[in-house]
Amino acid sequence: MGNSFFYPTRRRVLTGMAGMAGSFALSACANSDEAKKHYDVIVVGAGLSGLYAARLLEAEGASILILESSDRVGGRIYTMDDVPGTPDAGGMEIGQMYARARSVVGELGVALEAFPSSPPGMTIHYEGENTTMADWAEWPSNPLPDNIKAIPPFALMRSAMPRENPLEELDSWLEPAAQAHDIPLSDYLKDLGDSDVIRKMINVSLQGDHAENISALGELRKARVGQFERSNGPSEKVVGGCSRLTDAMAASLTSEIMKNKKVTEIIRNGDQTIVTCGDGSSFSASHVICTTPYSVLKNIKIEPGLPELQRLAINEIPYLPSTVFYFTTSEPFWEEDGLPPTMWTTSILERIFALASNEQPVAVFWGLINGNNSRAFDMMSRAQQEQTILMEMARIRPASAGKITIHKIHSWTAYPHNRGAWSYWKPGQITQFGSIYKNAHQNIHFAGEHTATYAAGIEGAFESGERAVHEILEM
Ligand SMILES: Cc1cc2nc3c(=O)[nH]c(=O)nc-3n(C[C@H](O)[C@H](O)[C@H](O)COP(=O)(O)OP(=O)(O)OC[C@H]3O[C@@H](n4cnc5c(N)ncnc54)[C@H](O)[C@@H]3O)c2cc1C
Repeated sequence: MGNSFFYPTRRRVLTGMAGMAGSFALSACANSDEAKKHYDVIVVGAGLSGLYAARLLEAEGASILILESSDRVGGRIYTMDDVPGTPDAGGMEIGQMYARARSVVGELGVALEAFPSSPPGMTIHYEGENTTMADWAEWPSNPLPDNIKAIPPFALMRSAMPRENPLEELDSWLEPAAQAHDIPLSDYLKDLGDSDVIRKMINVSLQGDHAENISALGELRKARVGQFERSNGPSEKVVGGCSRLTDAMAASLTSEIMKNKKVTEIIRNGDQTIVTCGDGSSFSASHVICTTPYSVLKNIKIEPGLPELQRLAINEIPYLPSTVFYFTTSEPFWEEDGLPPTMWTTSILERIFALASNEQPVAVFWGLINGNNSRAFDMMSRAQQEQTILMEMARIRPASAGKITIHKIHSWTAYPHNRGAWSYWKPGQITQFGSIYKNAHQNIHFAGEHTATYAAGIEGAFESGERAVHEILEM
């Protein structure tokens, strides 16, 4: 196998599009009075996968309409342009092996750079006390049993996983032999001597709500992809933030991108597919590429209905609850208390990273709250959230009291266009659903990071958009 990455020849693409172009011409004539346009392809969602699919199709002459529910392009690529240091609230790391992403970056002249170095080290805040990562193993309040005392709390889960990843290839997770690993992630904790202390520690950076509810196979797959992505060196960032990439992709398209168009129905009608939005507007196309996350796709009516197992997968595959927040400080409180500015904590704030810019070693602090703490945060009003950040920071790092300015809080869980950071698998779901996640339904094709087989994250979104385009061309 390997990372399957190929482009169709131009001849093959044009042959594939010929039928669609013909039907477009006919329907445009038939409806010329109303000037109701029929498109070759409607792309639902202007995130990376949708923009990339549109880019590939447009290059081959297809007529395309992109419908986007929010008031911006980019989806989970979202640079906080109004926050000092313009940090990314979503995807930011471009791996060295992100072949498709890097190819588009090059074509559009988007600049990449190394991540500026933040101050070294990490403060560990455990149950009301502080130490540093360097001192953790010898720290008198370290509650771990002697044999694992030296493992930093954020590395506990990783250390419990098999040293040799049983997944040889990037798509091995879909092979029947891999199903033996489709078990609760918590099963691995037994070797660490599972305890409440360990559970509390691993929950801080867990990519889900509980280790019982996460498939170990899904995590092994992520680890396998990560190993591949890091095999050629550290990832890079887009200069000015990752939204510069999606902005450039959108600007390079000639197709219309309609924003504030929340798709609510995709209905097959003869050889046309009618896509209807929440404001009552509707559009027709020969094909639809739907890139919305499952978390919102489950609320889109699709007719004829999807096969039962596919519908079940869409309804049940979970998304990681995640909230991010940003603050700056009037003074460098970390110089006052002598601890590293970046923090791993057992507080509701979980992890707080000091992000550097090219000008400053600490340009802004980025808080990252996942899982149940994100849900708890979402239950608060904005004023309560701000108060919680200020009070918790004053408790964890007393030297920060009175010095913090909060700039932004963004919940991916509450954000109606995503309802979560990314999809993950519950134990048994990979076995139950297999590769159904990417099955086309008649002329409706599914893309988005959740439908990628080989890559994940940003590159997974590109891979999925490319695969959906191939499906259309090969029909
Ligand atoms: C906090 C965070 C950090 C991350 N860090 C990284 C990283 O460092 N590296 C990496 O590789 N990946 C990272 N990722 C993942 C990466 O950002 C995503 O995998 C990728 O951006 C997903 O692109 P997509 O096109 O699949 O989905 P999306 O970007 O979600 O695009 C879907 C689009 O559909 C729109 N939409 C939703 N519902 C409707 C509807 N009903 N009608 C019309 N439009 C609709 C949405 O508004 C959105 O624009 C991160 C993600 C998060 C949240």
